[in-house]
Amino acid sequence: MSPSEPPPPETHRVGLGYDSHRFVPGGPLRLGGVDVPHDRSLAGHSDGDAVAHAITDAVLGAACAGDIGSMFPDDDPINRGRDSLEMLRLAVDEVRMRGWRVGNVDVTVITEAPRIGPHRDAMRAALAHALYVGAEHISIKGKSNEGMGSIGSGEGLACLAVVSLARVAGG
Ligand code: MG
Repeated sequence: MSPSEPPPPETHRVGLGYDSHRFVPGGPLRLGGVDVPHDRSLAGHSDGDAVAHAITDAVLGAACAGDIGSMFPDDDPINRGRDSLEMLRLAVDEVRMRGWRVGNVDVTVITEAPRIGPHRDAMRAALAHALYVGAEHISIKGKSNEGMGSIGSGEGLACLAVVSLARVAGG
């Protein structure tokens, strides 16, 4: 390719998302769009779903479309107690308008409890609907923090998400 040639069209993007929330007494625990039976839930302005929030930030980040806080300000009353899957879907709609679709999603939930494995497939199904992809494009993994630090002592949990976007043909 000579310096005067235009660069080839961009076909893929990658985004990273992170979120953490503090536990408060009383369940169920809303995570990945699923109400997981648990004796604690996550504090938050919305429903506290850290998995959905981390994926939302990864989706927006991949498209350089801002972040969850700029799209859904926490001083806006409409976002109080809001369904985080609805926010995720709106973020995906935003990047679709910019000519991208979600390729795959890989998530790690870092928490001592509850165990994520038994709820993985329900989360993948719930998230698939919001992301407009099949569940086979969504990976959810649970990790303990080996008892270390604030997550290890059960103060809260954290979540990491990576999302790939693919350019929509003609987009
Ligand atoms: Mg959050």
